[in-house]
Amino acid sequence: MPKFKEYVPLSKFSHYKIGGPARFFFEAHREKEVAWAVGEAKRLKLPVFILAGGTNLLFCDSGFDGLVLRPALTAIKAKRGGIVEVGAGVPMSELLKFAVSRSLSGLEWAGGLPGTVGGAVRGNAGCFGGETKDVIASVRSFDTKTMKVIERTAKACAFGYRESIFKKKRGTEIVLSVTMQLAKGEKKAIAASINEKIAYRKAHHPLEYPNIGSIFKNIPLHAIHKKGSPAYKAAVMTGTLSLRGSRFSVKSDPFPVVFAAKFISESGLRGVSAGGAMISPKHTNFIVNVLRAGSRDVKDLIALAKDEVSRKFGVALEEEVQLV
Ligand SMILES: Cc1cc2nc3c(=O)[nH]c(=O)nc-3n(C[C@H](O)[C@H](O)[C@H](O)COP(=O)(O)OP(=O)(O)OC[C@H]3O[C@@H](n4cnc5c(N)ncnc54)[C@H](O)[C@@H]3O)c2cc1C
Repeated sequence: MPKFKEYVPLSKFSHYKIGGPARFFFEAHREKEVAWAVGEAKRLKLPVFILAGGTNLLFCDSGFDGLVLRPALTAIKAKRGGIVEVGAGVPMSELLKFAVSRSLSGLEWAGGLPGTVGGAVRGNAGCFGGETKDVIASVRSFDTKTMKVIERTAKACAFGYRESIFKKKRGTEIVLSVTMQLAKGEKKAIAASINEKIAYRKAHHPLEYPNIGSIFKNIPLHAIHKKGSPAYKAAVMTGTLSLRGSRFSVKSDPFPVVFAAKFISESGLRGVSAGGAMISPKHTNFIVNVLRAGSRDVKDLIALAKDEVSRKFGVALEEEVQLV
């Protein structure tokens, strides 16, 4: 087996280009290398962090004092009846190209979704009305406690809004591969639908700067007004929420939510910066790295947004991204 690398800068693997060194780093290209690396980390009593595309993570400038393990499992296999078996390390963009090449439909919503299949499963990534769980038949994972492989049906993965059993297990289970159920479709229509989402993202997201997507989860409407109350019903029916002098759109995602970005802009934070980081004027739920930002700069803006939104609207913002 190959050895762990040492003192590897995590900024190289972070979509944000932020992060100090990993004391140890290992990229596993086969499932048995995942098991070997976890065994070695146990022997050396190292904490393990699983890194995939690095598109949803803020690494600390001081780095990670343990093993950063990257499951680079990149096989894709199409079977009969629209079944696709895909390794956790496959980038979503590659999976979408594969789906188009085989005229397989079901993943169009993920056009432009950065990151890997493993990351998408763990967070049940979703957008444009779709979620990762919609296409999942089963998931194989490696349990680092028992050192055994587990296979679960989609139901047993307990998917919820940006949730799954793998997220709840806090990194003690590593997704290895996923079986997806796709449907035969029209190649041109599938490609057009994917490209439409990519174009929307380019137009609305500040992709010109390093970023990690939406910093905060959108706010469930039921966190503001009790589900079924007259105010809740009125907001759903009109698609509009009035709160402390501001008006917010309500959308289904997949239940009624209010955009975190709107709370941030209504709190006067559009374009506010700290060090090299800035709350994007183009989309205020993005904090962009405009000038060699450090993790402290981003954390300061996260704290500022939470404080201001809570003070102005009495609403608690919750991070969608993970701070490591
Ligand atoms: C521009 C931009 C737009 C985005 N838009 C969206 C969007 O519309 N909807 C959305 O939901 N997200 C969005 N995201 C967030 C992000 O792309 C997704 O959450 C993505 O699924 C994360 O995948 P990743 O491979 O980059 O995971 P990473 O960022 O590397 O890791 C994220 C978490 O998943 C864990 N993880 C990764 N792989 C595995 C594995 N194999 N087994 C167990 N745990 C694992 C990591 O330990 C970590 O806790 C966006 C991000 C960016 C930068």
